[in-house]
Amino acid sequence: MTATLLDGRALAARIEASLQGEVDTFATVFHRRPRLVVVLVGDLAASGSYVKSKAAAAGRVGIDSDVVRVPASATTEELVTLVAAIARDEQGPADGILVQLPLPEHVDTVAVLDAVPPDRDVDGFHPENAGLLSQGRPRFVPCTAAGVQRMLIDAGIETAGRHAVIVGRSDIVGKPLALLLASRGPGGDATVTICHSRSSDLATITRQADILVAAVGRPRLVTADMVKPGAAVIDVGINRIAGPDGSGKLVGDVDFDAVREVAGSISPVPGGVGPLTVAMLLANTLLAAELRAGRG
Ligand code: NAD
Repeated sequence: MTATLLDGRALAARIEASLQGEVDTFATVFHRRPRLVVVLVGDLAASGSYVKSKAAAAGRVGIDSDVVRVPASATTEELVTLVAAIARDEQGPADGILVQLPLPEHVDTVAVLDAVPPDRDVDGFHPENAGLLSQGRPRFVPCTAAGVQRMLIDAGIETAGRHAVIVGRSDIVGKPLALLLASRGPGGDATVTICHSRSSDLATITRQADILVAAVGRPRLVTADMVKPGAAVIDVGINRIAGPDGSGKLVGDVDFDAVREVAGSISPVPGGVGPLTVAMLLANTLLAAELRAGRG
C-alpha cells in the first residue's frame, strides 16, 4: 500500500485564502490591519528563514508585520525590557508578539517568553494560555499542535476513540498536541499516549498507534517496522542533513520512503506540518487583533 500524502502546503493555502477575507473584514471595520511583531535574536540561519516565511505569509493575507532584530549578545533583562516596550505599542500596535526560538544559551528563555502578555501571545507559550488549553478552553493554541490537529480534521482522519501516539513531550509541540487530541470535540476524543527519550520499547507502543505523530528532531527515528499498517503518520520533525551532493537537505523524523509503504496516510517534510504552523500563527494573530478590538 502507498500512503495518501497529507499535503500541508495545499491546506495552508486554503487556510490563508479564507483568512485573507477575514483580515480584510477586520481592516474595513477597524480601519487598521492586524499586526504581528517578531523578535529575532542573533543570526541563526534557520531562525532567519522561519521569520522570513512568517513575514511573507502575513503579507499574503494582509497582516502587517515587523521584525525587531536584536544582536545575539542581548541579555535576558534587555530582551524582557524590549518585549515590554513592544507590548506597550511603543513601536505601533502589536496585536501579536512572537519571540523566535531558540534564544542564545545565556538568555533565560522562560523569562523572556513570560514577558509576552498572554493576550498577545500568538505562539501560545504563556502559562495562562497553556493553562486554558489544559482546561479545555483554548485561546492561543501553540501553532504546530494546532496545525497537526487541523491536518487530521481536514483529511477526515477520525480521532474519536482512536489511539494517538505522540513521540516527543515538548511544551511547544508534544504536550499541547496531546491535550488537543484528548480534548472533547472535532479532532479530539482520542486515547493519547506520549512517548519521550526515556520511554522503553518505543516500537511496541508506536505499533499500536492509529495516529502516530513524531516530534523529536531525530532524522528517520520512525522506521517502517514501528508503524501499524494503515496508520496516519504525521511528521513534525525538521532536520537538516547532508544530501547526496553534499548540500543540505531537510528531512523529518520519519523514514518517509519506507513508512509510506505501510502507513495509510503520511505528511511529508518539507511541505507537511511546517506550512500549517505558519498558517495557524496567522490565525492566532487575527484572533489577537479581534480580542483586542473586543470582537473575539
Ligand atoms: P524538543 O527538543 O524540545 O523535544 C524533543 C522531544 O523528543 C523530547 O520530549 C524528548 O524527550 C523526545 N526524544 C528525544 N529523543 C528521543 C528518542 N530517541 N525517542 C523518543 N523520544 C525522544 O523539540 P521540539 O521543539 O518539540 O521539536 C521537535 C522537532 O520538531 C524538531 O525537529 C523541530 O525542529 C521540529 N519542529 C517543527 C515545527 C514545524 O513547524 N514543522 C515546529 C516546531 C518544531
